[in-house]
Amino acid sequence: MALDRETLKTNFEKHGFAVSFFDTAEEARAYLCAQIHDTTVGIGGCATAVQMGLAEALSTNNAVYTHAITNTRETRMAETNAEAFICSANGVSLTGELVNIDGMGNRVAATLFGPERVFFVIGANKVEPTLEQALWRARNVASPKNAQRLRRKTPCAAKGDRCYDCNSPERICNGFVTIARAMTGARTELVFVDEELGF
Ligand code: SF4
Repeated sequence: MALDRETLKTNFEKHGFAVSFFDTAEEARAYLCAQIHDTTVGIGGCATAVQMGLAEALSTNNAVYTHAITNTRETRMAETNAEAFICSANGVSLTGELVNIDGMGNRVAATLFGPERVFFVIGANKVEPTLEQALWRARNVASPKNAQRLRRKTPCAAKGDRCYDCNSPERICNGFVTIARAMTGARTELVFVDEELGF
């Protein structure tokens, strides 16, 4: 379904976020490359960034850190300490909130404190009418798909249908973070793309 741009703009701007909209991932990638240059940028290990080729595109003019390429603790720390940080969201509400679920915590940490500029790149498939539905999506749609992508030994990865609130040592859902208003001290921008991107 196409993005309800007017409602998203009204509600997220009211909550202190900057908002931009693009018809295609290609246009959004060009925009991000124009916005982020000659600096350090961290990219959370999200399918959206991989799908868009953001690390490759931004590497032309920046020092890019992403554990999607170099999976070490040092890289995760460098992502969090970068000037700019890019990730997606597991669920987004039309009412103006963001939901992310994390296993280790570095991705959500970087969206809360550290980088001075945070960009959430959001495909149309991530948007739900309410915060409750965005949280449900994050738990029952995004997390099982991410568990499958990461080849985790969890019931959701095996069955691929929903969250089982497991106690698996390979569980990827340890922290649930809702950002209700833009965090103080950083500029947070939502880059909406009218395509299906990531999980
Ligand atoms: S809590 Fe466990 S079952 Fe539920 S989505 Fe996360 S990893 Fe899968």
